[in-house]
Amino acid sequence: MNAKDEKEINLIEQELKEINAKVSKLQNRKSELIKRKEHLKHLSFQRQTDSISDQNKWTHTDFPWYNKVQDTLKNVFKLETFRSQQMAAINITLSKHDAILIMPTGGGKSLCYQLPAMVDKGFTLVVSPMVSLMEDQIIQMNKLKINAMMISSYSTKDETKLLFQMMIDSKSGLKLVYCTPERIAKSKTFMTKLQKAHSLKLLSRIAVDEVHCCTTWGHDFRPDYTHLTIFKPMFPDIPILGLTATASSKVITDTQKLLQVEGCALLKATFNRPNLYYEVRWKPDNKECVDEFESLLKNKFKNQSGIIYTTSIKDCESLRQDLRERGCKVGAYHAQLDGNLRSKVHNKWLNGEYQVVVATIAFGLGIDKPDVRFVIHHALSKSIENFYQESGRAGRDGKHSTCLLYYKLSDVFKLSTMVFTTQTGLPNLYSIVKFCLNPKDCRRKLIASHFDESWESTDCNKMCDHCSAENSIKCICINKYCIEVYKILNSASNNDTKFTAQMLLDSWYGKVQKKIKLVDVKPPTFSRMRAEMILGELLVQEYLAEDFHYTPYSTISYIKKGQNYRKISADNKIFMYVSSGQSIEPDTKKMKVV
Ligand code: ADP
Ligand code: MG
Ligand code: ZN
Repeated sequence: MNAKDEKEINLIEQELKEINAKVSKLQNRKSELIKRKEHLKHLSFQRQTDSISDQNKWTHTDFPWYNKVQDTLKNVFKLETFRSQQMAAINITLSKHDAILIMPTGGGKSLCYQLPAMVDKGFTLVVSPMVSLMEDQIIQMNKLKINAMMISSYSTKDETKLLFQMMIDSKSGLKLVYCTPERIAKSKTFMTKLQKAHSLKLLSRIAVDEVHCCTTWGHDFRPDYTHLTIFKPMFPDIPILGLTATASSKVITDTQKLLQVEGCALLKATFNRPNLYYEVRWKPDNKECVDEFESLLKNKFKNQSGIIYTTSIKDCESLRQDLRERGCKVGAYHAQLDGNLRSKVHNKWLNGEYQVVVATIAFGLGIDKPDVRFVIHHALSKSIENFYQESGRAGRDGKHSTCLLYYKLSDVFKLSTMVFTTQTGLPNLYSIVKFCLNPKDCRRKLIASHFDESWESTDCNKMCDHCSAENSIKCICINKYCIEVYKILNSASNNDTKFTAQMLLDSWYGKVQKKIKLVDVKPPTFSRMRAEMILGELLVQEYLAEDFHYTPYSTISYIKKGQNYRKISADNKIFMYVSSGQSIEPDTKKMKVV
């Protein structure tokens, strides 16, 4: 290369460098601005939401439809008064504003779109995730002489044809059209009819039930719900009403974005169920556990109706069997029973032939028995959300009812191997483990904070195990136990072995597998229950973690060090709470009395 060329290349390189520097500066600025813009938009939407959600705007009686609403409530729905948030939701949607209504299961969300459907001209479109839920509602509506129809993959050609005609006929009297999200995603003819109905001003509102299904942050994401994003651009003047019992703010903001209703009204009914007594108990070994259940059914809950939730079909069947052998009147309900048998069990329970249904969570949606006096969780649920929903089936009539949760460390691993593949599976599970292990805070307060609800300590009224007991609590440091556990894990890995929690506990207590030599590990002087608590605590504080391995038949959860393992040191203590006045020698059934 000659000197002249070389010089020019150098100059170009120099200039390129400068340009690159400027580009990167500009790019930084660009991403800063984008972030800032998003933030401001978010704040502005939030202000909009706060302002429009103001209760005072929606609970007065000056609305032109006030009389019609009251009349419909009494004469069509045969109800006396509105429950909390129903009136606001109805007035908002009748004012053609978009809204999301968050209300616990059983709170009465459906009325908030069923009633407005009767007030407005035309029909309300209801998107619902399950055919059986839609069927229930149609039966209910038809009983009240409300013209409601549905379209699903089970609809016959003739039914569909009739529905399509009615949707575009102003004289049809059609009030509610139920469809699954799949219809919106896949059926062009249905969408065409909707557009036609809209142009004829016969589409009065769109209600999206279980609206949390549209985000992966919710507990049951349904991909077809993401297609609902076309509603707003397609029908900009039609109010959307989303309904859910999921309150986490992440889920709600995601949902608003997807439905393109950011800044919409947000109504939230309280999640507090004042008549439910919450208690967590330490679960004993199987035989003692069945003894305890038998005694509960025959004494504490004698002549009362209840549900026992189990984690697996196997547990469900065997617990039913065990309780029957002891003369308890119980039926089993799970997904492997055929539909007829399931409704038979359900009916026997409704009419009192069975005191209890032992069930998997397949037993849930659509249960509307008001006098369920107790719900027992034979094992913890997958999340606080699930626990709240399941236990919430007790006491719909407002009378005192009991919710018992039996906690055991090994149940955690039964569930973790089922849920670990989903994005939120493990964090959700660990939050309910924390809920169980918590020895001092009001259970209601813990649930309320999970639902982002503010909480006054007086709101519990001694209706949970912690508020009704008068134990004081002290904090103990469990570093030294963590170190012992790490020694065992090191020995295992030096021998190319992995330990499950049970094997880890066995080793700690000296029941060592021959080939593994434990170095310098002292067996605990306290009970195995205490050791299990410590492991649970280390797990949720991420000093331990689960390590999942597939085998051809199942998934196994092994225990490994958690991401916090480096933090263990003299000045970083891991704490656990126990009742004061006692050392680390528990042995009562109630977890908090340690
Ligand atoms: P959600 O969808 O919130 O779980 P539903 O809409 O299925 O709850 O309603 C649960 C039950 O509450 C139904 O039996 C319904 O008839 C009843 N309900 C709803 N609103 C009222 C009200 N204002 N007064 C009395 N009962 C009501
Ligand atoms: Mg509902
Ligand atoms: Zn309490």
